[in-house]
Amino acid sequence: MSEGSTVQPKVLPTRKPTHLLERYAEAELPTSRGTFHTIVFRERRNGREHVALVMGAVAGKEGVPVRVHSECLTSEVFGSLKCDCRQQLDRALDLIAQNGTGIALYLRQEGRGIGLGNKIRAYALQAKGADTFDANRLLGFPDDLRTYDVAAEMLRALGVLSVDLITNNPLKIAGLVDEGIPVRRRIPSRTQHNPHNVDYLRTKRERSGHLIELFPDDETEASVG
Ligand SMILES: [Zn+2]
Repeated sequence: MSEGSTVQPKVLPTRKPTHLLERYAEAELPTSRGTFHTIVFRERRNGREHVALVMGAVAGKEGVPVRVHSECLTSEVFGSLKCDCRQQLDRALDLIAQNGTGIALYLRQEGRGIGLGNKIRAYALQAKGADTFDANRLLGFPDDLRTYDVAAEMLRALGVLSVDLITNNPLKIAGLVDEGIPVRRRIPSRTQHNPHNVDYLRTKRERSGHLIELFPDDETEASVG
């Protein structure tokens, strides 16, 4: 009697084997670059809300341009010149809009995961001569507390088969691959330096293997490879 039975409890598509996140809200968001379908995912363990900005049809697609971006209040809201986060976000959104398809994941892990207050404490240490990585260590944090399990689950929920990742960070590629997301290729994330962030960018390149060329002009992409 039970054999071949089709009477099974229905599983809601958004509640598949997802465990970390609840797909909490979504709406169309008009922006200066066009309209993004905006989805808020809420982390069950701590209520933290992460955002997916989606343009075009991405479900079932290979090689979807994706930016996995960690929140940076100081540069994105206040225009801080101490890092290149805002430039990288802008560049990724431009690229996605030009392409007509793609996803920007905006993850709420400020200051490489240490939080805003500790990021500002690290800036104070940097003003006394510590570099970005030493400052984090002096505060008792590892170099990078960011994790990619949330990003991977968001991409799976969006039905993406593989991604073209917009990044200079090899750890980000490795992090996503570890979480089971195929990365087809890397799209370099162009960065420009200024007197306030040149040390930060140099440290990023030398101490965490970021693929950054420090040229003042726009010719960086070809040489980054
Ligand atoms: Zn930043």
